[in-house]
Amino acid sequence: MAYGVPVLVLKEGTQRTTGRDALRANILAARILSETLRTSLGPRGLDKMLVDSFGDVTITNDGATIVKEMEVQHPAAKLLVEVAKAQDAEVGDGTTTAVVLAGLLLEKAENLLDQEIHPTIIIEGYKEALAKALEEYDKISIKVDPKDKSMLKELARTALASKYVGSGAVLERLIDLVVEAVLTIAEPQEDGTLKVDINNVKIEKKKGESLLDTSLVKGIVLDKEVVHPSMPRRIEKAKIALLDMPLEVEKPEITAKINITSPEQIRAFLEEETRLLKDMVEKIASVGANVVICQKGIDDVAQYFLAKKGILAVRRVKRSDMEKLERATGGRIVSSIRDLTPEDLGEAELVEERKVGTDKMVFIEGCKNPKAVTILLRGANDMELDEAERSIHDALSVLRNVLKEPKIVGGGGAPEVELAMRLREHARARGGKEALAIEAYADALEEIALILAESAGLDPLDARAQLRAHHEKGLINAGVDVIQGNVLEDMVKVNIIDPTLVKKQVLKSATEAATAILKIDDIIAAAPPKKEKEKEREGEKFKF
Ligand code: ADP
Ligand code: MG
Repeated sequence: MAYGVPVLVLKEGTQRTTGRDALRANILAARILSETLRTSLGPRGLDKMLVDSFGDVTITNDGATIVKEMEVQHPAAKLLVEVAKAQDAEVGDGTTTAVVLAGLLLEKAENLLDQEIHPTIIIEGYKEALAKALEEYDKISIKVDPKDKSMLKELARTALASKYVGSGAVLERLIDLVVEAVLTIAEPQEDGTLKVDINNVKIEKKKGESLLDTSLVKGIVLDKEVVHPSMPRRIEKAKIALLDMPLEVEKPEITAKINITSPEQIRAFLEEETRLLKDMVEKIASVGANVVICQKGIDDVAQYFLAKKGILAVRRVKRSDMEKLERATGGRIVSSIRDLTPEDLGEAELVEERKVGTDKMVFIEGCKNPKAVTILLRGANDMELDEAERSIHDALSVLRNVLKEPKIVGGGGAPEVELAMRLREHARARGGKEALAIEAYADALEEIALILAESAGLDPLDARAQLRAHHEKGLINAGVDVIQGNVLEDMVKVNIIDPTLVKKQVLKSATEAATAILKIDDIIAAAPPKKEKEKEREGEKFKF
């Protein structure tokens, strides 16, 4: 109150929490989210069953999917969700680790807050630890040859095996497919690395048979049938017109009234429509196309004329598929038939409709530019297909990352333990209050390895003692083999490896999230909109 007059800065009903209370509330919310993911980490990670508000069920242990599907309410927890999404978009893997690590960093920060260390000091310490850790990652990384196929396979294995498809013949099959897919679409760069755009790998899911029947098609597969029964089902040396306009006579936008007074007029009207469609088809045939792939609809009459010309046509194809076809066949998407020229046509060795399970699909193979492939996923049910798709996506990302920056580190917590050790040394040498935060950062990192050990059924304290002993002896790649359930001296030797790029991004994402949350000392929450409240009250009235 100033001069006895109340000063209202915030709207009525606004809730405000400040200082340490605000900070603790945020930390708690973020930690709860991160602890949910803790048990999903690594190849022995447990699945989460997510039920959305429509009752649809997703079963997964993919961190990115879990946080995306969870309907998180708390603003601080939402911040963590954003980080997971960013990690996923940036490198496509390491999401669970990033969220769990962010939670651990906050947990350790809380201990420091208890010791009256100011959040700014913690933030400074964490930032310094991050910079140091990134530097050390470069030192402990192993350079690899991007052309080494067996190394690529092992990387794909580490990524795929940490998900639900993880075993036996299915795993081997998927590893081969993923590596082959990536190598097919990789484009050599001037600096000797390979550029991979994983958008050029299309994953088409089709229920039926089993994951073992999954195949790689060097080309594009469309989940569509040929539109007309009397069209050819197979065209060799295809010349493909890609259209994003309907092969229909456009209906006028405004309702036009046509006065028809005689049967002749009706006939003339219909004939005119037919003539227009016939002209369109004539034009398509005249430029030499024998396949039409259309993003929009194709009128029955147009279908009939196309069939008569021996042209195979597919309609209502997704825009993203049209774009892939454009790249793969070297054609150009045309919006007006009038502008269609022979140069706009794409080329493929073969366009063919095939039966896959109980459905028909159209295969476009032997493309002019074979830089687009389709993984045709088969599986018993939607949940299995979805989880397989997610793990393939992770594996594709991992390969893209290592081809972009051909460096790897050991998996199974090896680099985390090594970096923790180096950070502690750094903290000791440096001194000051920030050193406490750097040590906290080291503890958080080391705990990632311990969570993996725990998931393997090991006693975390024993595992920590063993891991520390190995690393102190200079075994920088000592880690936990989660599948076998033991501590190994060299993870690289058993081919449990991760790309350095992913690991570095994990640290960046997690640190960013934790420091962002530590910076907040005031939560000002607006009151829910009036309407909602009124509605609630309305609801009360009618409750019995
Ligand atoms: P994220 O979403 O963070 O990628 P994952 O569930 O894929 O989470 O787990 C990744 C972690 O699991 C990495 O630290 C990786 O090194 C480790 N990992 C994967 N396979 C193995 C294995 N066979 N033994 C030990 N650790 C493994
Ligand atoms: Mg992973």
